[in-house]
Amino acid sequence: MDEISLHELEAKRSALLRQLGRVKPFVEGSLAEIHSECGTKNCRCHRGEKHRSVRLCRKEKGKSQAIYVPIDLEEEVRRWNEEHKRLKALLKEISALSEQIIRGYVKNKRSRLKPKDLRVLKGGRKRS
Ligand SMILES: [Zn+2]
Repeated sequence: MDEISLHELEAKRSALLRQLGRVKPFVEGSLAEIHSECGTKNCRCHRGEKHRSVRLCRKEKGKSQAIYVPIDLEEEVRRWNEEHKRLKALLKEISALSEQIIRGYVKNKRSRLKPKDLRVLKGGRKRS
């Protein structure tokens, strides 16, 4: 892995935090399409054209939960779900950067840098 300075890591993290700041409505889970037949005898669903419906599924303490999503809300719920995925990925990335910063801090400390020197580093000077 390339050596990245703490300054660069912090800049990267700040950029991600700004992205995180622009939060839109979100919902956890995954959307599943269900094709089913109804109880009406002569309905088209019994001739192959099954009824389509959508459920939002997620696990709660190991149990699967499914919420019925009305068709007219489907598109919106999909957007909320996409937003949740985006946030989840961002959280993971920011956390990983924070870990790298902690490791970098420890490394700097070992090379006898004091916390106040670290602040100087953040100010601009790059370490190689
Ligand atoms: Zn039907």
